Amino acid sequence: MSHNINITKVAESKVDTLDFNNIPLGTTFTDHMFICDFENGKWNNPRIEPLALIPTHPAAMALHYGQAIFEGMKATVDGEGNPMLFRADKNASRLNFSADRMGMPNFPEDLFIEGLKQLVDLERNWIPPADGSALYLRPFMYADEPFIGMRAATHYKFIIMASPAGPFFSKRIKLWAEKQYIRAANGGTGEAKAAGNYAAAIRPTELAKAKGYDQVLWLDAVEHKYIQEVGTMNIFFKIDGKMITPKRDGSILDGITRMSVITVLKEEGYEVIERSIAIDEIKTASENGSLEEAFGTGTAVGIAYIQNIGLNEEVIHVSDESPVGKKVNEALNAIKTGKIEDKFGWMIKVENELV
Ligand SMILES: *Cc1c(COP(=O)(O)O)cnc(C)c1O
Repeated sequence: MSHNINITKVAESKVDTLDFNNIPLGTTFTDHMFICDFENGKWNNPRIEPLALIPTHPAAMALHYGQAIFEGMKATVDGEGNPMLFRADKNASRLNFSADRMGMPNFPEDLFIEGLKQLVDLERNWIPPADGSALYLRPFMYADEPFIGMRAATHYKFIIMASPAGPFFSKRIKLWAEKQYIRAANGGTGEAKAAGNYAAAIRPTELAKAKGYDQVLWLDAVEHKYIQEVGTMNIFFKIDGKMITPKRDGSILDGITRMSVITVLKEEGYEVIERSIAIDEIKTASENGSLEEAFGTGTAVGIAYIQNIGLNEEVIHVSDESPVGKKVNEALNAIKTGKIEDKFGWMIKVENELV
């Protein structure tokens, strides 16, 4: 499995302009990007080039009809400074799951991994070494064919960008249980990492923030009763000593952090139950003292501890301490930085990929 990835390097890296102790969120990009074009029914010309603007036709179909999907993942370094990727194979297969749902072509999973490895190898000096820091990687695909009319595009671009991300000091978050707007319905696109899902979430999130909350807690589309997920995170509750998370029902995103947290929790001896959870059950559990803690899980923030949940006129108190969430967060970070043995085989080493 050898892919010929053409590499054009920048004349001079900008990495020296980055203050690793103060990394701005989401605005700094590394020197290069991986890029590949879909034309004539196949992916052509995989290459790594200096990150630059891409000329776009005003009729590019992604801008009108929304064929755009993305992934999010991180590269970290071990104690010797060797870069590693966390479960990148899962991102590769999820991208293609999203592509299938949106009528887009699959991207070869081995080329996805190879492109990531070569890009990360080239940008290894951009990986922040501090605990909890990482090089955030953003693979994405969009329709760039100029055409007015409703059908699947025949031209696409697949790109991977990289952006250094500082240590994320998780403050406890407040969630707004949303009863008017929905994120995803059965048969919709909720299980795809499709750009449009996030567009539809922006206005409800702004309204929740105006009420003093950090994120929207999405409920099911039919009864506005069952908990789905949070912003770009899945959610876990601890009730009566048991860990509970909404079961996958085709509407929630199949989070790679979620699946990893389930594995780590089971390893730590917790019972993990995937089932429907009504928001009223959380309210009752808070009132009778059986709700012990709750946290969100996602690549961007890792584990986000939940303080309370706004429900109609009430505020459901969740917790002020999150011992289980902390333990899981530390376990995941230790795996990602090579501090403990990678016993689940999750880490993909980036060697000297460029020959
Ligand atoms: C990306 C995402 C998640 C978390 O997925 P991870 O693979 O853990 O990063 C959860 N929910 C939504 C809606 C997302 O977009």
